[in-house]
Amino acid sequence: MKGRDNSGRDKIAALARWLSESRETVIFTGAGISTESGLADFRSPGGIWDRFDPNELSYPRFVSNPVSRRTYWKFYRENWKVSRDAEPNRAHYAVAKLEQLGKLSAVVTQNIDGLHQKAGNSPEKVFELHGNMWEVRCLSCNDLYSWEEIFKLLEEGKEVYNCKLCGGLLKPATVSFGQSLPEEALREAQRLSGRCDLFICIGSSLVVYPAAYLPEKAKNAGAKLVIINREPTPLDQIADMVFRGEAGDVMSQVVKTVETGTF
Ligand code: NAD
Repeated sequence: MKGRDNSGRDKIAALARWLSESRETVIFTGAGISTESGLADFRSPGGIWDRFDPNELSYPRFVSNPVSRRTYWKFYRENWKVSRDAEPNRAHYAVAKLEQLGKLSAVVTQNIDGLHQKAGNSPEKVFELHGNMWEVRCLSCNDLYSWEEIFKLLEEGKEVYNCKLCGGLLKPATVSFGQSLPEEALREAQRLSGRCDLFICIGSSLVVYPAAYLPEKAKNAGAKLVIINREPTPLDQIADMVFRGEAGDVMSQVVKTVETGTF
């Protein structure tokens, strides 16, 4: 089974059995789980990095360069427009169903789109390692601004002003390259990864660190590691099972099999 990438019935049934027998399952998701909802990922052809320069959107540039800041807000405005109307897809609903079936300890996500919660996962089970796109905060005093207020400003072609309380820079509450991850979400994600017995990665290139340490941590602590992704990942070699396919296809079949117990 190790490292194989055929996505036949035998593997669907095997993963359904592992889920049914699992004491604690962690689902780890990346941008690839949301492409079926119409949200571009970073690295696929036509993805966000085909349109924006990653360096230009980094945290050091955001805080030091007004031109980069303007580019960042342009990128954000585009993302907000698409994400606001996005709906969860089959893969998100399958993950939510696992929680309903009592087969899910946590969803650890790199995504900022909120689609796991929208699909029905309890907010307390979802750990957002890279924040979420629906809040804007002051980088100095952490004061909260509604994204609607800032979005309206951008739609009118105006500059985003500085914090009304302290004059600090405002930024969406997402983690940019070069910015630290939210401590509590990361701590909890590490704890859960170190104690689960099944860790399933869905739609992630597994190249963005420190998030991508989590599958390795789970594997090293004795969990079975499963990877569901369109393309190969650097961790395929250590995985116990690899599905090279569409997240929605694989997850809907797996969860149906768990529900019916036909494995
Ligand atoms: P990534 O772009 O590096 O990788 C996505 C992976 O998903 C790719 O390997 C691709 O082959 C695969 N994929 C795409 N569609 C798929 C599908 N339907 N089924 C199965 N696999 C599919 O994204 P990443 O690993 O999440 O890491 C990069 C960063 O992307 C994260 O920091 C995250 O914050 C950010 N991001 C999030 C969103 C979102 O919230 N929807 C969108 C874009 C980027």
